[in-house]
Amino acid sequence: MTDKNTTMFGKDKNPSNIIPTKYTLDSNIKFRCHPGVSCFTACCGNIDIILTPFDILRLRRLLNLSSDEFLLRFTTPVFVEKTDMPGVKINLDDNGRCPFVTDEGCTIYEDRPSACRYYPIGMANFHQAGDEGEDAERFFFVVKEDHCKGHEEDKEWTIREWRADQGVDICDEMNNEWMQLVMRRKSYGFQANLSEHGQKMFFMVSTNLEKFKAFIFDSSFLDTYEIDDETLEKIKDDDIELMFFGFKYLAGALFGAKTLQIKDEKIQAKVKEIKDSQANREQDAEKAYEELVADRDALTKQANAKQ
Ligand code: SF4
Ligand code: SF4
Repeated sequence: MTDKNTTMFGKDKNPSNIIPTKYTLDSNIKFRCHPGVSCFTACCGNIDIILTPFDILRLRRLLNLSSDEFLLRFTTPVFVEKTDMPGVKINLDDNGRCPFVTDEGCTIYEDRPSACRYYPIGMANFHQAGDEGEDAERFFFVVKEDHCKGHEEDKEWTIREWRADQGVDICDEMNNEWMQLVMRRKSYGFQANLSEHGQKMFFMVSTNLEKFKAFIFDSSFLDTYEIDDETLEKIKDDDIELMFFGFKYLAGALFGAKTLQIKDEKIQAKVKEIKDSQANREQDAEKAYEELVADRDALTKQANAKQ
């Protein structure tokens, strides 16, 4: 087994704060976070909170903002999980605190980002080289930072119970395909770079579903891809469906997965374009060769004339 796919998708990523134990869903942990702990909201500052597409969707709905407004007001671009895939993180205020925290706690608690829900339980996937997540062995780890007094509380429960309480499962379901894309990219390392176009597409789907929808319906997208009417109806009216469709599009566009079918006439047109450009190249090569021969003959003629 190799650990190519480690997912440390949470607030804290300092390995020295990770307890070196593999936990399963049925492992017990002792932890409780509540307004009575002395450290209440201490973890809501000096952190990078990377937002998943689902986090953004949920937050902008709650705040009643368009994607553009939300991104502009609350986020900064950042590369996700040390890859060249661009996403966003929450802007902190001048004191290095999350803009949604008050003395009473989190003001967006019901819709708080995935990273805030996972903390302090991280999740990791171990998989055989070449596997793409489905066959991965999943396990959990506990992040224990000195300032977090929740570990000193008496409440004992399984990781499964903790995750259900935090509403993590629905986040996993919504984030999974997106995380698979990030992890797949991460597993390639930096031998290959994502093209500028690929980065733009990833950023658009990950952060701005309104733009992605316009890209589908107002560009040549539908002339290129074979999309059935039922799917089109769904993605027109349902942002979650649109988001999942976006992940499929990215898997095809970035990694060549056969998730969307390109229209036959487009393929034929591309084949013709390649053939034409090859034919043109051959013609150009022949022309260049003829010009070379003509130059050589002219030089030979000049040389003979001088003798
Ligand atoms: S979103 Fe809420 S829980 Fe997360 S850091 Fe901000 S205030 Fe804390
Ligand atoms: S117990 Fe831990 S998670 Fe809860 S507020 Fe304190 S530092 Fe944050």
